[in-house]
Amino acid sequence: MSGPLRLQGIPASVGYAEGPLFNLDRGDAHYAAKASAVEEEAALQAAIASATDRLAALVETADSEAAGILEFQIAMLEDDALTGPAFVAIPSGMPADMAWRQALDAEIAGYETSDQDYFRARAADMRDIRDRVLRALTDEAESAAPAGAIFYGEDIAPTRFLETDWSAGGGIALRAGSTASHVAMLARSRGVPMVVGLGGAAAPGASPANPAGVALLDAEHGGIVLSPSTAEIEAFRRSSSSFAARRDRAEAYLAKPATTKAGTAVRVQVNIADPSDVDGIDIGTCDGVGLMRTEFLFGRTPPDEETQYRAYRKVMEWAGDKPVTIRTVDAGGDKPVPGFTVAETNPFLGLRGIRLSLARPDIFRVQIRALLRAGAHGNLKVMFPMIAVIDEYDRAAALFKEEQAALAARGIAQKMPPLGIMVEVPSVGIAPEVFAGVAFFSIGSNDLTQYVMAAARDNAAVAHLNSVRHPAVMRLIASVASFGQEQKIPVSLCGDAGGDPAAIPALLEAGLRDLSVAPAQLAMAKAAIADLTV
Ligand code: PEP
Ligand code: MG
Repeated sequence: MSGPLRLQGIPASVGYAEGPLFNLDRGDAHYAAKASAVEEEAALQAAIASATDRLAALVETADSEAAGILEFQIAMLEDDALTGPAFVAIPSGMPADMAWRQALDAEIAGYETSDQDYFRARAADMRDIRDRVLRALTDEAESAAPAGAIFYGEDIAPTRFLETDWSAGGGIALRAGSTASHVAMLARSRGVPMVVGLGGAAAPGASPANPAGVALLDAEHGGIVLSPSTAEIEAFRRSSSSFAARRDRAEAYLAKPATTKAGTAVRVQVNIADPSDVDGIDIGTCDGVGLMRTEFLFGRTPPDEETQYRAYRKVMEWAGDKPVTIRTVDAGGDKPVPGFTVAETNPFLGLRGIRLSLARPDIFRVQIRALLRAGAHGNLKVMFPMIAVIDEYDRAAALFKEEQAALAARGIAQKMPPLGIMVEVPSVGIAPEVFAGVAFFSIGSNDLTQYVMAAARDNAAVAHLNSVRHPAVMRLIASVASFGQEQKIPVSLCGDAGGDPAAIPALLEAGLRDLSVAPAQLAMAKAAIADLTV
C-alpha cells in the first residue's frame, strides 16, 4: 500500500485499537487426495470428528454466551442433513475436501442471500464450520495472528474470536459482517473494538488487495486508517486516550444514582436479552430492567410456558422490588425467528412484533400466561413492540384479561402487570393522544429512527442518515415526553441512543428522565448525565 487509506463502516463494538493488520482472507491449504472413495469418506469422518472434538474442548472453558455459539456449531456438525450431501458426492469420485466445500457452500449461500439480517449474520457460523473441517482435512493449523492485531477481512469466524487472546488489545475490521452477528455480540460483551460494513457503498476508496502494516481502528465512529501517516497516528492516539480516560472516569459513576450537575435525577435502567445477562450486573448500579428482549428465548420451537416463566422469574428475583419491563416477543425485521416469522419481501414493514403475536394467538397466549404468573413475583411491567394503532393494544390487553381469568379459575398464582407500549412506529410518536389509555410509553429509538429517516438500521450505506439526533426524530421524542408529562403517563427510552453519550444531552433536553441502556454502557451513560446542567 502506498499512502494512507481511510475506510468507513458501522461501529459494532466501541473502542480503539492500533496494531498490525492480520489478513483473515488467506488462501486455502493443499489437500492430498486419497486412493479410493472409502478412504475419502474415512478422511472426512475423521476431520468432522476432530473439528467436533476441538469445539467440545473450547466449550469446556467458555462462558454461557460463548458455549451457546459453540454448541450450535457442534449440533450442526452432528446433523446428517448438513454433512450428508458431502458423503453422497464422494462415491461419484469427488475428493473429500471438494465434496465438503461444495455441500457447505450450498448451505452458506442460502444464509448469505437471505433478506433477513439474522440469517445473514449466521452465515459466519456456517463458514466457520466449513473452514474448521477443511483445516482438519489438510492438517493445517490456523495461522497465528500477532499479539494486539487488527483482524481485517470479509468476515471473522466466531471460534477465531474465542480462540484469540484479546488481553493484549487488538480489534476487528470487517468489509462485510453485521452488528447482529455472534462475533459482534461477543465483542460488545468483552470490550473488543469492532467495525463492520467497511466494504459497503459508504466506504470511500477501494479495499486493499493485500492488507498489511499498522492500522488504526476507531470503533467509536466506525472508521479504520490503513498505512497511517505520523500525524494520523498522533491524532488517533489523542482520541484513543480521551476515550480511555472517559471510560475510566465513568467507572466512578457506576455505583452512584444518575444526576445532572444541576441535581436533576435521571433513572437509568438496563436492557437485557437472556436471563443470564443479569448474572454479571450488580442490581445496585441500575434502576431496574427497562427492556427485556424476549425473542432470544425463541428458538426453532417456541419455548413452553414453564421455560418462559422460569426465565422471567429469575430476572424478577434478581431485581427485587425494582421494576422489570419485559417486552412481548418482537420477532421479525432484524430479529427473525425460524419457524415463527414468515418470509416477506420487506420484513421491516411486515408481520413483525405485536402484529405477528396477534396473528399467532397460540404462541402469544403461552407467553402471556408465563408473564402473568411471573407477575406474582415482583415489580413486573409488560410492553408490546411495534404498536401502530390502538386496536393492537386493546386486543393484546384483552388476551391478558382472558388468560388471567383462566389462570385464576384454575387457582394458579398470577398478577396483572401494567401494560405499556413501545414508541417505535412513527404513528405513535406523531399522535400519542390516540394511546392515552396505556400504562406507559417506552421509546424504541432504534426502530423509530430507521422508520422516520427511511434508513435501515443494519445498512452501512445509509448509516449517515440513521441519526437519532435528526430534528425530525428528536421532535417526535420531545412531543411524546411532553404528552406523557401532561397526562401523567411515564415515558422512558430503551433504544441504543439512551446509552450514547453523544445523544444523551439531546434526550434530556427533549424532556426524558428515564433511560434504559446496554449494561456495558451503564457507566458511560451515568457519567454523561453527570456532565450536564439540564
Ligand atoms: C428499538 O427499536 O429501539 C428497540 C429498543 O427495540 P429493538 O432494538 O429490539 O428493535
Ligand atoms: Mg425495536
